[in-house]
Amino acid sequence: MPVWFITGTSRGIGLELARQLAATSGNTVIATCRNPAGAAALSQIAGVHVVALDITSEESVRAAFAKTEAILGADGGIDYLINNAGIGGGDTVEDTTPEELHRQLTTHVVGPLLVFRAFLPLVRKGSRKVVVNVTSGLASIGLDLGPKGASYSIAKAGMNMLTYKMSKQYSDLTIFLLDPGWVKTDMGGPDAWLDVDYAVRNHIKIYESATLETHSGKFLSNEGKEIPW
Ligand code: NDP
Repeated sequence: MPVWFITGTSRGIGLELARQLAATSGNTVIATCRNPAGAAALSQIAGVHVVALDITSEESVRAAFAKTEAILGADGGIDYLINNAGIGGGDTVEDTTPEELHRQLTTHVVGPLLVFRAFLPLVRKGSRKVVVNVTSGLASIGLDLGPKGASYSIAKAGMNMLTYKMSKQYSDLTIFLLDPGWVKTDMGGPDAWLDVDYAVRNHIKIYESATLETHSGKFLSNEGKEIPW
């Protein structure tokens, strides 16, 4: 009976992940989003536990933890913690602002760290102990993807280092990075290569097949192949 905990499920990849997981019997899905009252599509998925969570707010993280504990009960744990929430951006180093760089770092580095540290006791109680930080190919220096999306790329590269540090600190947990691919969502836009349902089916296969030996500390593509850092 795997328990999934996902951030950023009001739309896009997170919403589709909640939808596909909820459609498979046996999964418990805790789908979190900033504003549950405004998440119409999410509220229509049967059997999902919707919890309010703004990953950048410590107060919101604390409240979400209390609610999740209440849902899971005294012995319940989280098998899969998916740090999916994110924001796009198209600046360059020439036109970015301190505010934008700060916003990107808060969302892609501080937020995932707050969520991970707060929910760690529940991950430890889970039997799978899988933690995924959803990053981007734009975080890769090796892929050499150019100047666009500077603050986003810098912040996701920070998330990559955070994930490396997490995987070294907690060597009993399976902690890795997934680049979801270029996916048709609000962020990916209509020209993206992958339909969200197809992409998310691949993501779930990667999550479910993850092991400490094969996945921990890795930066993986949506096909499960290693991406250069
Ligand atoms: P969307 O823009 O479609 O959805 C982003 C989700 O993140 C929304 O649910 C949004 O909630 C949520 N979110 C943003 N900030 C916060 C926050 N502070 N707290 C909680 N939730 C938040 O993006 P995608 O679904 O496409 O992206 C999902 C992940 O995949 C992101 O991490 C993104 O960087 C990554 N990614 C996506 C790619 C693509 O091509 N689509 C490519 C590479 C990486 P709200 O509705 O409240 O704004």
